[in-house]
Amino acid sequence: MHFQLASETEAYRAEVRAHLDAVMTPEFEERIYRSGVAHDETFAKGLVDKGFFAPSWPQDLGGQNRDAWDEQVVKEEFMRADAPMYLSETTRMVASIIREVGTSAIKQRILGPAMNGDITIALGFTEPECGSDVAAASTRAVRDGDDWVINGSKMFTTNGHIADYVFLLARTNPDKPKHKGLTMFLLPLDSDGFEAQAVWTLSGERTNITFFSDVRIGDEWRVGDVDAGWQVLGLSLRDEHASGWGPHIARLLHHVERWAAAPGDDGSPRLTKPDVRRRIARVAMELEVAMLLQRRCVWMTEQGQMPVAEGSMSKVFSTEALTRASQDVVELVGPDAMRSYWEPRAPEQGRFEHLMRFSLGTTIYAGTSEIQRSIIAQRGLGLPR
Ligand SMILES: Cc1cc2nc3c(=O)[nH]c(=O)nc-3n(C[C@H](O)[C@H](O)[C@H](O)COP(=O)(O)OP(=O)(O)OC[C@H]3O[C@@H](n4cnc5c(N)ncnc54)[C@H](O)[C@@H]3O)c2cc1C
Repeated sequence: MHFQLASETEAYRAEVRAHLDAVMTPEFEERIYRSGVAHDETFAKGLVDKGFFAPSWPQDLGGQNRDAWDEQVVKEEFMRADAPMYLSETTRMVASIIREVGTSAIKQRILGPAMNGDITIALGFTEPECGSDVAAASTRAVRDGDDWVINGSKMFTTNGHIADYVFLLARTNPDKPKHKGLTMFLLPLDSDGFEAQAVWTLSGERTNITFFSDVRIGDEWRVGDVDAGWQVLGLSLRDEHASGWGPHIARLLHHVERWAAAPGDDGSPRLTKPDVRRRIARVAMELEVAMLLQRRCVWMTEQGQMPVAEGSMSKVFSTEALTRASQDVVELVGPDAMRSYWEPRAPEQGRFEHLMRFSLGTTIYAGTSEIQRSIIAQRGLGLPR
């Protein structure tokens, strides 16, 4: 396994970082922070123009034929910078699934525009009555001639108010066992009968509850076979569960190091205090382990192996480490750490309190810590359900 990235990969990282330094201006960051929406059209187009949207895709599909390590450093740098990437990421994830299982008609219609940054796709799996148990979805799709008529609602359809499509999990056969009566659709969000209402989270992020009332779409928008939605959904959960959130810890470390280098109340640099050094070292160790677990997943994928339990280990460790580290830093900095972005006297522009609120959601989305632990127990250790 590689522990050190190749010099070519590090050179590519420098390119990505230079792009981010140029576009992530303080004004831009403030606009994104105020909106609570992790997407910006111009920013997303910039990614496409620079080839950062899907660097490992083949050139004939608009990619750059780069390897998994190059793709990894793009992800690391965008996460470290807290760039507004979520809708670009979900779009790329669904495009990958369409590439794998879509009909040639849907591939032709979606892949080119997705790779050009002309369309965006949100995820519609979770429902108000079922989140982790996603196979219990009750949003119905009923066949009517060449069409499907969709009724129901989805919860946490992040970016559902601005995306062009939603990748929708719907029940097509209520008489079959729950995993076997589901089908995936790519539903155009300008369809009649669709509505998105805002839901604001603890971290100030806007997500949505979405409603589907007699939404009619043609069968050409089905992705995969009828009643085979669970297998199609598995492709996207595989991607989500193997995520690593370590670069957010790198951002926290960067801010706390700057804070520590400045003089404290007694005029000497805060770093001279043993407790400051102890806690900063702890954050650095959390970062190191989180990054290694994530890179092991990349390495396994490169070797043609599927990081199932290893992906869950990366996700659960990195998100819980971010939570631990941000709480530790808030305790270290003291009451001032609770000053928010809007307060001129907030240390490090309010990053400490924001990271602490933000960290809590990371242990929920893309599979909660409890679900990840079950995967590790069953798939990694072979324990019974
Ligand atoms: C900010 C945010 C954005 C999101 N964005 C999207 C999105 O864009 N699209 C989308 O489809 N979904 C999205 N989600 C949903 C997310 O991916 C989770 O799947 C979902 O939040 C978990 O479901 P729930 O909140 O209904 O909790 P529940 O599933 O009801 O879980 C409640 C608690 O019970 C625990 N639990 C549940 N089942 C088990 C079990 N079998 N064993 C042990 N413990 C269990 C959970 O870990 C959790 O602690 C988002 C969620 C959030 C918070």
